Amino acid sequence: MLYWKGIIGSITASFVNVMVIRSRKREDYVFSRSYCPVCGHQLNYLDMLPLAGFIIRKGKCHYCGCRISLRYPLVELLGLYLGLISNSIRELMMFMDLLAIALYDRDNMIIKDSYLAVLLLCGIFTMDFRYLNNHLMGAVVISLPMFLLATLTDGFGMGDVKLMAVSGFILGWERCLLGFVLRCFAGSMVSVFLLMMKKAGLKDRIPFGPFLVLGIIIAYSYGFRLIDFYEYAWLKGV
Ligand SMILES: [Zn+2]
Repeated sequence: MLYWKGIIGSITASFVNVMVIRSRKREDYVFSRSYCPVCGHQLNYLDMLPLAGFIIRKGKCHYCGCRISLRYPLVELLGLYLGLISNSIRELMMFMDLLAIALYDRDNMIIKDSYLAVLLLCGIFTMDFRYLNNHLMGAVVISLPMFLLATLTDGFGMGDVKLMAVSGFILGWERCLLGFVLRCFAGSMVSVFLLMMKKAGLKDRIPFGPFLVLGIIIAYSYGFRLIDFYEYAWLKGV
């Protein structure tokens, strides 16, 4: 069962990746077959196998020999992991939607409203409504200060604020705060790394969404355990 979850996660992530790339070019991603972006040759099923296809073809297009972007196996690997940690189809859908949000934001610096609507729906189906107040607090605890900051400065866009509101609603306020802290940590680590490698300057905008999505997924999956651990460690320390 476990490895089926991984395989389904990997296949779905592969589809999500193609969907995000093609929706930018306004191409059909449901019915038209995948092709090599360099030579345009249609891919067969062996080429399209998630992860295995990349390994069998040694990271090169079978037809023209060009290098296949590492993005494909990385996203498929991430999908494998997301498949393994999801406890239901609804959770898997939510993770895949978050993946779509992160990839689309990375490519276009926009967080799509339609993806956010799907996230909200998936979240509602995975939530425990006995704690509705907690979830409602989660929806505003970070998003409201962010909304005020976004109107005063242009540090982040309204898409980020909306993503924070929807994810906060799903997570509840404790895990929402945790997700935001994790996001800041991951974001600053990567920014420092990019600055050190001189891949980005101080004025470059780095999309906020992918880091936020990372924080949300960790907070959703391990949040309560991390918070318990923190409280335990804190009490022990005092
Ligand atoms: Zn090719």
